[in-house]
Amino acid sequence: MTARQVLVIEDDKDIALGLRIVLERGGFEATLAGNGRDGLRVFHTARPDLVILDVGLPEMDGWTVLERIRDLSDVPVLMLTAHGQESDKVRGLHGGADDYLTKPFGNDELTARALALLRRRPSAEVAEAPEVFDDGVIEVNFAAREVSVNGEPVALTPTEYRLLAALVRHQGQVLSAQTLLDLAWSDPLGIGPDRVKYTVMRLRRKLGADTEASPIEAVRGFGYRFRRK
Ligand code: CA
Repeated sequence: MTARQVLVIEDDKDIALGLRIVLERGGFEATLAGNGRDGLRVFHTARPDLVILDVGLPEMDGWTVLERIRDLSDVPVLMLTAHGQESDKVRGLHGGADDYLTKPFGNDELTARALALLRRRPSAEVAEAPEVFDDGVIEVNFAAREVSVNGEPVALTPTEYRLLAALVRHQGQVLSAQTLLDLAWSDPLGIGPDRVKYTVMRLRRKLGADTEASPIEAVRGFGYRFRRK
């Protein structure tokens, strides 16, 4: 069995590095992200088995990150907080967190909680992210970052590619413009949902289908969804 992947989203470098050491000793593989946006991006590409998420993060706080993760996945999330307030705990568990740990915490406690969360979710149930998507018309090779339509390669900008990859990875699911901004734009601060709309329009044209026939469907008031053929 390959090591379980843990994504640690924590801006305090000392704590993050300490967590990595503890997790690796516990037999996990740890990836670190220093803020929420990086965390979401890594989450999206690495598909971790567990997320350890600090509440106090710069720019986008842990609650918002949790919300965005829950838009996409039911991966176990262990929240870290410095406050130790009951209200935070209630908020975290209502917001979709699976467990909660107050700083400072002991290494053994962290490992025990992480293992408990993973036990609740056997690895066989964790869907492996496929390397290639192919619905007979559109093919997305995630490893090579290549897209083709009816066998013809399509040149996409990095943002267009990430947008398509996000929609395809979550096919059938409606992703909000905000979630797409977080996942596809390298610097989404200050960019409005209109940008998503125009990029979707460009992407649809490049994929060779106009609004009606496009597999990228706009769901009014909610966002966008990829429908496979
Ligand atoms: Ca922090």
